[in-house]
Amino acid sequence: MSAVRVRIAPSPTGPVHIGLARTALYNFLYARANDGCFILRIDDTDRARSTQESLDSILEAMRWLGLDWDEGPEKGGGLGPYLQSERSDRYRECVDQLVSDGKAYPCFCTPEEVQAGRQRMLETTGVGMYDRRCRDLDTTEARKRVETGESHTVRFKIPEGSVTVPDLIKGDVVVELRQVDDWVMVREDGSPLYNLCSAVDDADMEISHVIRGEEHFVNAVKQLLLFAALGRTPPRFAHLPLILGKDGKKLSKRVAQTNLLDYKRDGYPPEALINFFTLLGWGFDAERDLFTLSEAIERFDLAKLSKSGSILDEEKMLWMCGVYIRDMDTDALLDRVTPFLVAAGACTADDIASRRDWFRHLVTCYQERIQIYSELPEKASYLLRDGIDYDAKAEKNLRKNPEAATWLQEYRDALAGLPADAVIEQLEQHARDFAEAREIKFGHFVHPVRAALSGTAVGPGLFDIVSLLGRERVLDRLTKAAQWLQQ
Ligand code: GLU
Repeated sequence: MSAVRVRIAPSPTGPVHIGLARTALYNFLYARANDGCFILRIDDTDRARSTQESLDSILEAMRWLGLDWDEGPEKGGGLGPYLQSERSDRYRECVDQLVSDGKAYPCFCTPEEVQAGRQRMLETTGVGMYDRRCRDLDTTEARKRVETGESHTVRFKIPEGSVTVPDLIKGDVVVELRQVDDWVMVREDGSPLYNLCSAVDDADMEISHVIRGEEHFVNAVKQLLLFAALGRTPPRFAHLPLILGKDGKKLSKRVAQTNLLDYKRDGYPPEALINFFTLLGWGFDAERDLFTLSEAIERFDLAKLSKSGSILDEEKMLWMCGVYIRDMDTDALLDRVTPFLVAAGACTADDIASRRDWFRHLVTCYQERIQIYSELPEKASYLLRDGIDYDAKAEKNLRKNPEAATWLQEYRDALAGLPADAVIEQLEQHARDFAEAREIKFGHFVHPVRAALSGTAVGPGLFDIVSLLGRERVLDRLTKAAQWLQQ
């Protein structure tokens, strides 16, 4: 069995963010690159804020991105359970051991006493931390008070000296312990807190590397000391630099969609996001920005992670989505856009099944013209419904030439004489002959016709549009435009 065991440990207390997606991805890449195990653990000790809905969205987001976990909810595994809410006995056991070893202690101070002590410490030493007044209580006395049910928390006894946190990204960081608080491990109501649960679980689940966001570096100090106090081997740490907005500041809600499932809802191809997120702190090589997940797995190396924050460029993200869509197999793309077409009310799934060739043609026409799936129903709406409206550019193109009304009417009549199943090449040749016979420059002819048929000035090739609309709608729209111009 491989020695590499990594985990992500999200708290199900809100939507899934880009930061979690990147952390999950890097853990996943590292596990797959080293034949290791990727674990999903749920940090749900905060019972008041944890919700089933949030847990479901974590699972949904992970599945959508294709980041399959090896051990965790719905998968099981030998070192579970993987929900912290099911591991309380284990935390209690560790805390009891630490208290009896003199490495943690019950604290009977009321919140007011703690606060007053903090204030005094701030005034006398310049550091506002718990004044440790319960640390040196007589242990027999303290045990009696606990046994009689006196309300208390349990605090970790921070040792003297300093500790070195070996970080694979930051290097060795020496932290003086004088300024580290005797932190609370267990609340008055008996509920265990994050640093306790996290370290106990990382130890029990034999985690080899903790790869997570930089904001958790301060916790690594407490966790390392706890590992030592429990006599367990700590994991290696790798704290990933922040993801920044374009303004160079920490990513905020204003800068990006922060709920990952919004990207799913809006039709971002997950493969493109995986590619894009991989680049938030790691480079494939100097020449290439585009690569598959398996290519990334082959090269991924924690030693090559960036030490500075990465900027999230949403335009580049969209561009990358467009590239992935362009390179997709037509049928695969049609399957991907189907729910978006149906949700927009553009057609039903049955329509697509019964006219699959028509929809394949539609998709190929738009493959280079959309960056996310949700753009298709809107952009192709004139092909999907019967009515037509002209946008400002279309109106301009219709009005540009005073002869246009006549051309459109005559072209309509000429088209009516063509076989209804004429293919694109025939349609084009026919239009060219039509324009030439009337000495109209083909370019001049195409603009009002496109406007009449699509209501816009941009879109796929004109004869793709003619073919997709079908004879009836083409004849109707040409008549309608000619009449509109005459009014
Ligand atoms: N529950 C923590 C979070 O969601 C986990 C941090 C860790 O990876 O230790 O940020």
